[in-house]
Formats: sequence, structure tokens, C-alpha cells
Amino acid sequence: MAAAHPHHEGNPRDDMFEYAPAPESRSVVEIAPSYGLFIDGAFDAGKDTFKTVNPATEEVLTEVALAGPEDVDRAVAAARRASGPWSALPGSERAKYLFRIARIIQERSRELAVLESLDNGKPIRESRDVDLPLVAAHFFYYAGWADKLAYAGFGPEPRPLGVAAQVIPWNFPLLMLAWKIAPALATGNTVVLKPAETTPLSALFFADVCRQAELPAGVVNIVTGAGDTGRHLVEHPGVHKVAFTGSTEVGREIAGSVAGTAKRLTLELGGKAANIVFDDAPVDQAVEGIVNGIFFNQGHVCCAGSRLLIQESVYDEVLEALKRRMTTLRVGDPLDKNTDIGAINSAAQLARIRELSDVGAQEGAQRWSPPCELPDHGFWFAPTLFTGVTQAHRIAREEIFGPVLSVLTFRTPAEAVEKANNTPYGLSAGIWTEKGSRILAVADKLRAGVVWANTFNKFDPTSPFGGYKESGYGREGGRHGLEAYLA
Ligand code: NAD
Ligand code: MG
Repeated sequence: MAAAHPHHEGNPRDDMFEYAPAPESRSVVEIAPSYGLFIDGAFDAGKDTFKTVNPATEEVLTEVALAGPEDVDRAVAAARRASGPWSALPGSERAKYLFRIARIIQERSRELAVLESLDNGKPIRESRDVDLPLVAAHFFYYAGWADKLAYAGFGPEPRPLGVAAQVIPWNFPLLMLAWKIAPALATGNTVVLKPAETTPLSALFFADVCRQAELPAGVVNIVTGAGDTGRHLVEHPGVHKVAFTGSTEVGREIAGSVAGTAKRLTLELGGKAANIVFDDAPVDQAVEGIVNGIFFNQGHVCCAGSRLLIQESVYDEVLEALKRRMTTLRVGDPLDKNTDIGAINSAAQLARIRELSDVGAQEGAQRWSPPCELPDHGFWFAPTLFTGVTQAHRIAREEIFGPVLSVLTFRTPAEAVEKANNTPYGLSAGIWTEKGSRILAVADKLRAGVVWANTFNKFDPTSPFGGYKESGYGREGGRHGLEAYLA
């Protein structure tokens, strides 16, 4: 396998063709030396700044303003001023802006894909073919709802809530922005959004898209910063709604601070999804789904299939095919079009992945990775699987949020369901079987917001997404996603 170039002695890839480097040009996107806050339709410099790096090289990309409490005040005030006129526009007029934003995103998708890969570390193939098309699709989809809200099933005259405070994570920076902003604007709300501190750039680029679309000032405001900025925003008395995606720990804190206020809240938190392979599943197809389930986006996916449950009778066959497939994964330069697994988003996240993986080995699970040479600079973690995992192991219970798969086994469908549901989370699950009746019977018993059958990690703006239990509450996407923004 896999690092950018090196050859390996005894590497299973030796009998295969080598890949020549196929880098996407980074010159398609211009990064300014510094960025301000986007408030009331204009960029202004904050007092303090922080740096954002390219996690594949540790190179500093640029400096970004760090919003303090007064900056958050100004952003909320701008969103409140914009709220009346924006909500008074006919839905068909709001739709025009959203359609315009969607088209500009499509036109500028190459720039945005490169920027997202530079700031986040994800492979260009994913930012180009998954993130960006889904971002545009989200704006198109909610643009279509803006003039049909009276027929959405939430009463004849649904009203916007006002100002939405939105805090998003670093794993899908622009896609999470789209999930938050598109339904909020379609329903007549205005927003103040805070991107994650390691991936602020695509949100700032989006601010420029809003200007290009001539979106009225104050409808979208972007404040950059870390946890403190997020806390000032969600605790601000001037906001009517809070939408958060991120860790369960921070989600819990936000639920506490919002409790007892009139603010509405949706939380999209962690997961520890089971991907269940029955003995009649087509093995090669299942292996592709397992790989996609845990190695897509370096495993930085809240709905990742991080617990693989294999029926005992096919355990050896599936495991062998999976290991063979894992040796072909290419880890390295995110801007290389042949890269499958890019960089881990931050030093902090890499440390968390290392720590939990070490715990897995200490607790007695067997660790395996294909031969893999990792680049010298940047944050990297080889695709890893653990066998001999029991339900009591921490790597079977806690979200690792990295390219690490925990493999367990089961004998009967009932045992599979019991093990799949034995988690504090409930965001997603996968079922691999040839039998349609089994898919329906098992899906019905899984306590997970999304259940994929013979596929995994499929997203569509028309489909609601969200969790049970500690994975959060509320739904994003689809008609259901409108409800969180309507009174
Ligand atoms: P995090 O929850 O700390 O950060 C998510 C967002 O919340 C960021 O924008 C951050 O600045 C902001 N934030 C942090 N503290 C806040 C506070 N008190 N009030 C308001 N906003 C606040 O996540 P993290 O530290 O980047 O990652 C930790 C773990 O969380 C990961 O290892 C992973 O398990 C999980 N995670 C889940 C998701 C998801 O999509 N569900 C995304 C990112 C991380
Ligand atoms: Mg970065």
C-alpha cells in the first residue's frame, strides 16, 4: 500500500501497476493572507486571530479572526435586523437567492473542493465527488421548499423562528454548513454560523458566495473562533434557535445551557454504528461497503460503520477479503486524485485516535494494518482493524472518529440486533444480506436513525438524518428538516 510513492519489499502491491502522482492543482484557489469576520454583509477584522493549517503538511494556510463576545453581539444584532425583511419576502423570492447560491457553488466547485481538501485533509476525490455535489444539492432542494412551506405539513402558515445560532464540526465543513444554512434560509430565518476552528476557510469562502448572490446583508453571518466563540453564540439571549453538530460532550453542555430558555434546539452528535454482515451477503459487495463505511473521510464520520458484526460462519472469508482490500487503499496527499485516505484533521484528533487504539491493544484485541508508509509531515493514521473485540472493550463502545474498525461476531439475527443496539448511540446502521425479508425484520429492530441495506454512507438532501439516544435529537434533511426552523 499506499503512501505517495515508496516501493515496499514484499508488499502485496508489488505485482500491481504503480500509480503515477496525479495532483490536483492548488493554484485554482486563492487563499488570502488573512480573513475577517463576515457580519452584516461585510468582512471586518476581529481583534484577535488564529491560524488554520493544512493537516497533510502542517503548513499554515492563513490567519483568521477570532470572534469575541462583542463580535458575536454584533453578528446576532445584524441577523436580528435582517430577520424582519427576510421573513417578509415571499417564499418564491427567498428561493431565487437559494437557487443562485446553489448555482454559484456549482460554478466554483473546483475552487471549493481544493480549499476543503487543503484545510481539512480529506481526499480531493471525496471533496470533489461527494461533498461539493451534496452541498449544491442541499441548496437546490431547500430552494424548492421555500415557496411550498404551507404544504409541508406544519400548518397552513408556518412561521420562521427568527435568528438561528449554528455551530458545526470539522469533518464535513461545507456540507454541514449547507445542512444548517439551506433549511434555515428557506424557512425565512437568518443565521449566525460558527465553523470549526481547524476548518474555517470554506465557510469564509461561502460568505463570498453570499455576496456574489447579492443576499441581503445580515441574513448570513459567519463568526470564526473556537469553543468559546461557539459558547458565546449558543448562549446569546438574542438567538431563537440553536443547531449543533459535534461531540456528545459539547452537545450535552449546550443542552444544559439552552434548557430553561425559549430557544429551540437540535443536536446531531456522535455514533458507533454497527455494520452487520449476514452469511448470505455477497462478500465482495459487503467488503466495499465495510471499507466505505469506516475509511471514507478517514473515518471522521459520525455515522461511520465503526463496529463490524460478522456472522460466524462467514467470518474467515469476510475478514480475509477485507484485509486483501485494505492493502490496496492508498494513503497520502489529499490533493492526489488517486488517494483513498487523506490526513487526520488535527494533531488533537490524531492523539485521540492513537490513545483509543492503544487502549484496544492493551485490553486484548488484536490490531492489524496493511503495510503502509506514512508521510513524514502532517497528521496520519494507517487504516486499522481490531479483531477479538468484545462488547466490553472501549473500542467497541467509544467513538474513535478515525480509520479504525472494531470487528465482532454473532451467530443468530437476534444476537446481531442485540449487539448492534448495545451502545449509548443510535445514529446509523448497515445490513448486508440477500434476503429482503431479513432487511425489513432487522431494520425494524435497530435503534438507529438511518439504516442502510446493502450500501453504506449514502446521503441525499431529500432524506432525513438524525439520531436516537446520545446521538442527539431532531432531524436534518428532507421535509422533516424544515420542522426544526418553523414555529
Ligand atoms: P467539538 O464538539 O468540541 O467541536 C464541534 C464544534 O463545536 C466546533 O465548532 C467547536 O468549536 C464547537 N464548540 C466546542 N466547544 C463548544 C461549546 N462549549 N459551546 C459551543 N460550541 C463549542 O468536537 P471536537 O473536539 O472537534 O471533536 C471531539 C470528538 O467529537 C471527536 O473525536 C468525535 O468523536 C466527535 N465529533 C463528532 C462529530 C459529528 O459529526 N457528530 C463531529 C466532530 C467531532
Ligand atoms: Mg485546517
